[in-house]
Amino acid sequence: MPAKSVNDIVALCKRRGFIFTGSEIYGGLGGAYDYGPYGVELMRNIRNAWWNAMIYARNDIEGLDAALISNRLMWKYSGHEGSFSDPLVECKKCGARMRQDKMKDPTKCDNCGSTDITEPRAYQLMMGLSIGAMADGAINAYLRPETATTTYVNFKNVLDSKPHKLPFGIAQIGKAFRNEISPRGFVFRMREFEQAEMQYFVNPSDDEKYFEYWKKTRLAWWTDKLGIPAEKLRFLPHVKLAHYAKAAVDIEYAFPDGFDEVEGVHNRQDFDLGSHTKAQNEFKLSAKVLENKDSTTKLSYSDAQTGENFIPYVIETAMGVNRAMLAVMIESYDEEDLGDGKSRTVLKLKPWLSPVKAAVIPLVRNVPEIVDLSNKIVDELRGLGIGKIELENSGNIGKNYRRHDEIGTPICITVDHQTLEDGTVTIRYRDSMEQERIKTDDVAKKLLEIVKQ
Ligand code: ATP
Repeated sequence: MPAKSVNDIVALCKRRGFIFTGSEIYGGLGGAYDYGPYGVELMRNIRNAWWNAMIYARNDIEGLDAALISNRLMWKYSGHEGSFSDPLVECKKCGARMRQDKMKDPTKCDNCGSTDITEPRAYQLMMGLSIGAMADGAINAYLRPETATTTYVNFKNVLDSKPHKLPFGIAQIGKAFRNEISPRGFVFRMREFEQAEMQYFVNPSDDEKYFEYWKKTRLAWWTDKLGIPAEKLRFLPHVKLAHYAKAAVDIEYAFPDGFDEVEGVHNRQDFDLGSHTKAQNEFKLSAKVLENKDSTTKLSYSDAQTGENFIPYVIETAMGVNRAMLAVMIESYDEEDLGDGKSRTVLKLKPWLSPVKAAVIPLVRNVPEIVDLSNKIVDELRGLGIGKIELENSGNIGKNYRRHDEIGTPICITVDHQTLEDGTVTIRYRDSMEQERIKTDDVAKKLLEIVKQ
């Protein structure tokens, strides 16, 4: 059974070192979280699962890692500076500030139920910066609120350095910052978060085909790579489209409080490259863009066969890595009744997502041969290069098993007196709790098989 409440995950995250409140010892900071020893591993494994699928498994997508701070003009022409805002309302009775479009009932305060609420006002979501000695506090740069725009402005750089025919994509994983009115849902809505976004550049006549292709491909990734059951995921098409979008759909996951967005797939037409290109008049743009007199580069594509020079359309896939991790933790969380009033909490992660791939436990710690052999096994498993291998040299075996169940370690390997006699170790499996003895020489092969699952 998955977690019944996000609170189960919050408690596990703190207890076992996945996620801590940001600036905790100074009272915290709304919408900022710090990822602990196992949280960084799980995030890294999710990123890798995405990067493997989007880049290494294909010929048509390149990676990029753009700066987090960027020139104000970038966000002027992307439209963010003028319109990247949420409708903010304030309750005159209790002072609560809310996003009007996310209120349960827009006429009543979510906090106290009062109907005495202010008119909505646009609240700028971007975090402005004042960079350099001459800035004197004036905003001249922004922390990026998404990775996408920093990809569009590099379209020509990537294409010139690595020629591609349409369709092709550019993918990025990185931080984004939004001054959210009300961060909520643990890491669901934060002010600093991480996105994994891919912009796929297509011939305008192919846009609908690739929009459908990416919907299907991304949904399959959630089930196959993250292990989320298909029935816990759904598409929610946007009814009210952004002015530049031709079609948009959210991929939603069934969180304990209901379905909510984890990823978006968008047909953004030629809005983005069209907004940032030089000489906009030379192109017949479908989207309405701001006149751009500052860009120094044409973000267009020349078709070698037809000789046509045009602005490609963009199909975007935009995932929140923190939301993916939250969904994965909720889905793999289980509290098992073991009978006799005993129970255990276990994180049934797909092994390639597990923060620790295997734990090696010397059963007796005062016998040097057992400890040496345990260290030898650890070294061998580390040599596989598949992630974190832990040596457990404290606590009793029961406590070690409990801890590794809770952080989702697929196997524990125990070294004991018998190991010295017959060269076998005990493997204890996380999900079934079954144990078997196998030859020490076979441990690495076994672990490799498990981690592939
Ligand atoms: P929402 O409607 O929830 O505000 P959005 O539609 O603005 O999200 P996008 O701009 O499409 O989101 O961003 C892509 C993904 O980034 C989202 O699907 C989500 O997983 C993630 N994301 C967006 N905002 C946040 C946030 N404040 N905290 C954590 N993840 C976020």
